[in-house]
Parts: sequence; structure tokens; C-alpha cells
Amino acid sequence: MSRFLRRSLQGLEAYTPGEQPKDRAYVKLNTNELPYPPPPAVLAALAGGQLAALNRYPDPEGTLLKEKLAAHYGAAPEEVFLANGSDDILNFAFWAFGEAGAAFPALSYSFYPVYCALHGVEAAPIPLRADYAIDPADYAGQRGMVVIANPNAPTGRALSRAEIREILEQDPDRVVLIDEAYVDFGAESALPLLKEFDNLLVVMTFSKSRGLAGARLGFAFGARALIADLKRLQYSTNPYSISLPDLLLGAAAVDSAPYYLDCAEKIIATREKTVVELQQLGFQTLPSQANFLFVRHPELAGSALYEALKARGILIRHFATAALRDYNRISIGTAEDMAALLREIRAILREERGETR
Ligand code: PMP
Repeated sequence: MSRFLRRSLQGLEAYTPGEQPKDRAYVKLNTNELPYPPPPAVLAALAGGQLAALNRYPDPEGTLLKEKLAAHYGAAPEEVFLANGSDDILNFAFWAFGEAGAAFPALSYSFYPVYCALHGVEAAPIPLRADYAIDPADYAGQRGMVVIANPNAPTGRALSRAEIREILEQDPDRVVLIDEAYVDFGAESALPLLKEFDNLLVVMTFSKSRGLAGARLGFAFGARALIADLKRLQYSTNPYSISLPDLLLGAAAVDSAPYYLDCAEKIIATREKTVVELQQLGFQTLPSQANFLFVRHPELAGSALYEALKARGILIRHFATAALRDYNRISIGTAEDMAALLREIRAILREERGETR
């Protein structure tokens, strides 16, 4: 830290992203990416002549992409917001709507408390139920904005649309942000509620079910006034935050919906198979509607499993906090990735139990 850093930022603890090591080839099951490559049509979006316009700034409105998203999801283009990853949208939202504080599950995306610290938003962490589910009733009476990852991370558990409605109905005078980064892997989207609630913001991303984590593209739906607020902050920060390649990739990805639907179906099938196999090996798992599993094993500390798998070329996510240290979060990869994971876990368990083979 330099002696120049603003005093109010000196205690800021930044978010720690999942590791992206390059020292060897890993089976990468630690940052909830899609394991499948972009379809040819998405790759072709950068191969045409359109990149010749790179000497010009991109369309700050992202008009074409917004229109495609609006048509795909049944909204108006003015109800769509685009940003450089959904993290950017969350940042703007906490900044814009967090004046009276922000309530979110105590166990959720660990970036939420960072945004609170960054923008001086008072955080109200709401404990989960004993089964790690979110209880909508716990959000009644919370004055500030409410932020729910649905499905939640790292648990993978999802609320139904009826439960989201319950939270929205508790108070029309606070923003309810539903972070649907993982919604396409089996949860119900809150999007149909947009017509009824002008305090709902639904945040989505191209990073997970559309496999464009490397592009950095997020989007949100909300009432026009909410979207205008977010744009005011974006235009006060960086109006050209979405690059021309991102806009082209995003538009091609929306056009490739059947490919991504197929990918999500494969992930769901692989997830359900992996759950059964992990349970057979003694793991406790939570029901997941996401592209990851939150698991613990009675004989293996979370950190021990993480380290042993990493040494064997498999990366999973371990969180060192007191509440999470028994657990690991395992992203769902290809069927081959999961076969490799299970093979190595079996070997680790044999070693742990002192068996020779
Ligand atoms: N929300 C949740 C719950 C996430 O897990 C992530 C990914 N780390 C994000 C938002 C942000 O994703 P991105 O910025 O890649 O769109």
C-alpha cells in the first residue's frame, strides 16, 4: 500500500478470484466455467471483417446486442443493461441502491461484502437455514436492498419463483437484485416478474451457461428507471466498457441458443450422475441447481482434499473461512473431467485409509 491511498480505502479487503494457474495442465473445476468450447458461429463472429472497425470506439449502447437480448428474453431494449461482466453490474447496483444497506445471505457470493465495503454500504448478512436453504421470510423488514444469488453460490440451492415473489412483495420500496449467474442450470428465472415489480433487477452473465468467461460480458433486466440509474453510473465511469469483440461475441452467442441449451442439459445430466457417485464415496452433497456441487467428506478435511487433488492435476475451490472450511465447491466439467475427478478421489481415499490399492 502506498502512502497515497485514500484513508477510507486502506482497510478494503479485495475479492480473491479463483486461481487460474498456468504451471501445468489442470482439469479445471474451480471457477464454474463451462467446460465446452464456443460453437463455430461464435468463433466466426471475430473472424469476419467487422473487427476492421477496431480503430473506432464501440457502440456505448450496445444497441444490437441489447435488441437481441430483449427479443430473446421478452423484454424491451430499454429494460436491458450491458456491462463488462456481471461483477460490474453488481458493483454499480450496490453503489446505486445500497444507501439504506444491503441484506444478502450470510453464505453467498463473497464479492457482495466487498462491494459493501467499497461503497460504504452497511451489510446485513442473513443466516441460511440449517439445511443451507434461504428462507424468504428472513428478508421481511430488511430496509436496504436485498441481493439473492439464485441459485445461491457456493451452495447451489435455488429458490422458486414463488419464493422470489414473496421477497419482492415484502417491500416495494427497496431494490431486490436476483443474481442469476447460474440460473440456466436448472433454476427458475425471476424474469417473468419484471412486468409486476419495478424494484426487481435480474442480473445475468455470459460467463457461465454461455461459456464466454474470457470475454467479460454481463447483462441485467429491470424497469427502465432502474436501468437508467445503472447507466448513469456506467457513463460516469467508463461508457465504452464493452469492447467491440465482446459485442460481436455476445450477439453471436444469443443467436446460438440451441447450442448452449444442449451444453446446459449435458451439465445437468453430468451433475446428477456425479452427485450419486460422490455420495457412494461417502460425500455429503447439497441439492444443486447450478453447475457446481458443494460437498464435504467426513474423513477428509476440505483443505486436504483440495491440496491432494491439486497435486494430482485437478483444481477445485476451497474456501478457508470458518463456516466453509469443511467443504469444497466442485464445478461440473465434461463427463471425462468428472471421471478423472472421481478416479483421483478414490485413490486419495484409499491412501487416506491406508489401503495399498
Ligand atoms: N455472480 C455470481 C454468483 C458468481 O458466482 C459470479 C462468478 N464469479 C458472478 C456473479 C460474476 O460473473 P461475471 O463477472 O463473470 O459475469
